[in-house]
Amino acid sequence: MQSQEILDKLKCKNLLEAILLTPKGYNNTHLIENLEHLPTFGVVQTQILSTHRTPKTLQISAFLPDFHTPLKITIFYPKKFHTSLFPLNSTLYLQGKIQKGFELEMIHPKVVKHFGEIIPIFEKKRGIDLLELLQELITEEALLSTPIPKEFIPHILNIFHPTIGFYEEYMFYKNFPPNTLKALKFVEIFLYLQSMQKKKRFFSSKFSCKGDLKGFITSLPFALTHGQNQALQDIQNDFNSSSASKRLIMGDVGSGKTIVILGSVILAYPHKSILMAPTTILATQLYEEALKFLPAYIKVGLFLGDSKSKKQNYEDFDFIIGTQALIHREEDLRDFALVMSDEQHRFGTQQRYFLEKLASNEGKKPHILQFSATPIPRTMAMLQSDLISHTFIKDTPYKKDITTSILYKQDFPSLLAHIKQEIEQDHQVIIVYPLVEESQNFSYTSLKKGEEYWRKHFEGVYCTNGGDKDKDKVLQEFKERGKILLATTLIEVGISLPRLSTIVIVGAERMGLATLHQLRGRVSRNGLKGYCFLFTYSDNNQRLKDFTQTKNGFEIAELDLKYRKSGDLLEGDRQSGNEFRFFDVSEDEEIVKKAKETLELSKNPKKQVIINSL
Ligand code: ADP
Ligand code: MG
Repeated sequence: MQSQEILDKLKCKNLLEAILLTPKGYNNTHLIENLEHLPTFGVVQTQILSTHRTPKTLQISAFLPDFHTPLKITIFYPKKFHTSLFPLNSTLYLQGKIQKGFELEMIHPKVVKHFGEIIPIFEKKRGIDLLELLQELITEEALLSTPIPKEFIPHILNIFHPTIGFYEEYMFYKNFPPNTLKALKFVEIFLYLQSMQKKKRFFSSKFSCKGDLKGFITSLPFALTHGQNQALQDIQNDFNSSSASKRLIMGDVGSGKTIVILGSVILAYPHKSILMAPTTILATQLYEEALKFLPAYIKVGLFLGDSKSKKQNYEDFDFIIGTQALIHREEDLRDFALVMSDEQHRFGTQQRYFLEKLASNEGKKPHILQFSATPIPRTMAMLQSDLISHTFIKDTPYKKDITTSILYKQDFPSLLAHIKQEIEQDHQVIIVYPLVEESQNFSYTSLKKGEEYWRKHFEGVYCTNGGDKDKDKVLQEFKERGKILLATTLIEVGISLPRLSTIVIVGAERMGLATLHQLRGRVSRNGLKGYCFLFTYSDNNQRLKDFTQTKNGFEIAELDLKYRKSGDLLEGDRQSGNEFRFFDVSEDEEIVKKAKETLELSKNPKKQVIINSL
């Protein structure tokens, strides 16, 4: 059969896809060589001497010529055909387990035609014989004509044409052995990268932008951090280009992303920019910072869902800031060069792309910048790099000094003492509860119950479940004169609370590490000594212990992956790479690199010739 014909039958686009139809196991039909270690599994030559039916069994007396020893065969609840499977005086090859009873015995052996082979077993697929098709398709010659690096080829051949050595390794690992897995990971990731490249399309940018960044930077009351400078440099290069750029800028809470947003507005000027934030309070905060740091000639407009906003028009402003209400307005975004979203992970894909679409014009696209405090792991970034560029801001303007510790029930009095002490110094405290209302099968105090307690013992206690209508007002009042804020995990990430020194997270073991890190990032934003207390009933929780030792958001992202893999995750909003069968986002960076190089080479055969001839 022609390869193409086989591929069509398998419904695979190419040989690499067919490789991923791996067998689910192997059938060892090698002849048993000795009976020293029983029970043993395999194939034996057997002579059938006599058969005897009882109501519930078929008993067969047989002889093993290779071992000069009798064998008893038992079939329970035999059907008619069983008798004909074992004709008297015939010599058969039987596969199964030989064990020692009174004499040697086999229960329900299989009569096999082939022996001396390792036969891959496949999932039944629409009645087609995968074994035959795949063995014909996947040959050394065929593999050599693919971009798969030579070193992987013997390992792929092993999967479909297994040797006894491979089989033994397979049994030892109860899975494909490491070298084979590596080859499979390569194939999987290569295909993935290839499909990403097909999705990639270049769009012309509406405007190439060269605003006066230097002037803006010198006007600031502080020097930019290395990370901020680097991010603005990347953005400047993007904007200079005639193709529309798309970049995700990741930096921990407090790394100063707002300044990068404002710098981008400057770079885009005299063209217009638009920024979407997840909540009213964040949009308002960004607006205030824009007024504070941007030069007066840039007109900034705040658009919320309120009646005041409805009276304003985009055309009167150079920089529009707003909430999701932005996407519901029927405004003309044709002269907008830049579309941004802050805390981008809070938006759905739909929402994010809506503004982008609105701002596209005659096949040309605006530049897109997304800002996020939740870093994705490096491997993930490498995988996505064809669709979106990445910048990591790794430093913060203030050294964050946050002590993280785990608290148990018996530590409550010392927590109280700490809170009193902080409040005396005019610092603020947030307590995050896992649930709003009491629940039967849940042992932690709820927000409601907690509220009763704190209000009774303290002044300046504010409370929001994150879903209430007046939550913005509550936050604003707390910011100005509150002492203790009781909240759920829904509480805003981006809001600036310079006096906040302490966060207590109740039931911390129930949360993803990324969420814990976001919550912790709320304190010590402006250099105040900070405290993060993880309150838990679960003692000896290694994940929480690791968390107390890790401050860096990127390390947290890696840690999170590690624990996700071990299934210790209860929530999370980040892509975790679960779509891969073999490839592991948390440890296979080298393989991505290799697949990327190979993909480049396969697109550029000239380069390949040069490399081969070296
Ligand atoms: P985030 O990355 O969480 O959005 P912000 O942009 O809100 O962080 O910045 C946190 C605080 O740090 C703000 O008060 C901001 O004005 C201040 N800030 C930003 N960049 C610098 C800098 N280079 N030097 C000093 N302070 C800075
Ligand atoms: Mg921010």
